[in-house]
Amino acid sequence: MTESQAKTFLFEKNQNPLAASEREALLENPGFGRVFTDHMVTIRYSEGRGWHDGRIEARRAFDLDPATVVFHYAQEIFEGMKAYRLRDGGAALFRPDANARRFRNSALRLAMAPLPEDMFVQSVRELVRVDRDWIPSADGAALYLRPFMISTEVLLGVKPSSDYIYCVIASSVGSYFKGGAPAVTLWVSENYTRAAPGGTGEAKCGGNYAASLAAQAEATREGCEQVIFLDAVERRYVEELGGMNVFFLFDDGSLQTPPLTGTILPGITRDSLITLARDLGLTVREEPYAIDRWEADAKSGRLTEAFACGTAAVVTPIGQVKGRKYNFTIGSGGAGQVTGKLKAALLDIQNGRAPDPHGWIDRLF
Ligand SMILES: *Cc1c(COP(=O)(O)O)cnc(C)c1O
Repeated sequence: MTESQAKTFLFEKNQNPLAASEREALLENPGFGRVFTDHMVTIRYSEGRGWHDGRIEARRAFDLDPATVVFHYAQEIFEGMKAYRLRDGGAALFRPDANARRFRNSALRLAMAPLPEDMFVQSVRELVRVDRDWIPSADGAALYLRPFMISTEVLLGVKPSSDYIYCVIASSVGSYFKGGAPAVTLWVSENYTRAAPGGTGEAKCGGNYAASLAAQAEATREGCEQVIFLDAVERRYVEELGGMNVFFLFDDGSLQTPPLTGTILPGITRDSLITLARDLGLTVREEPYAIDRWEADAKSGRLTEAFACGTAAVVTPIGQVKGRKYNFTIGSGGAGQVTGKLKAALLDIQNGRAPDPHGWIDRLF
């Protein structure tokens, strides 16, 4: 740690880290979100004192009063990002400044104390440096970082909390979908919507996920992997999946994705792919796309590929779409060519195999 960072975070090394042999065994096949590292970051906030008591310490349970605000009114936000192993053995974050900005916006939407963006980036960088041995090096594997913030005032009255804990935990991960399926099947949610205008759709908060789970359970019952949500007003325009943005590719070589109108989470993968697609010479439109249009275009062959994207699952081809009224296949039902090209372009930058013309890589060591 540099001197200024050491002042921000008190470092208390975990006295009982997992043995190297056990860690290596876990990293062989980590799955997603079940293998955790030895340390965590915490920073506290209280009205009057502001942000204070930043620490990197052994990962441990929180001790919280049952009347803590977060348990009752869900004042909680989070981020998801990855530290990537580079070819030369080093490691890097991908656009951490963009996560820091989004975290700040999410905090403001949920009336929480915004964490200074430089403190966010520094906290993630330091945790990765401390737990660097947990970054897997297999293809597609990474160290997933989960910064989050909870309200910690003890009160059943309804108002923004006066106290918060910001925390970062890290999890060694392999690929998101079991078995690395070539394409996912989506379930069109006609009973449930994810976000309405003026709601919290563009904030990354746990509440959005809680609200999506009944739809996800319905999808699972119908034999589909993920839900595709329609807009809450007309129930007509395709918005996004429960935790991923969506793109459509046409036979004229153009790419389309729904616009950010407040009900869609502004994905950093989404934003990066728009830039990379333009670099590759594709025309990109951010325009609404109706579900009936999608079905007609898939059936006529005008639509050739579709994919979902996000930090966790990277780029995932969409093979089939089902619903009470819908049942159609995209292209051959497998992974499309342009989708593969875009995915490779992104992963090559993230893993240091390609130049980084947009300055997205934040090298840590
Ligand atoms: C996090 C998230 C995404 C993807 O965002 P990335 O920054 O690309 O990881 C998309 N949709 C929702 C609802 C999300 O929570």
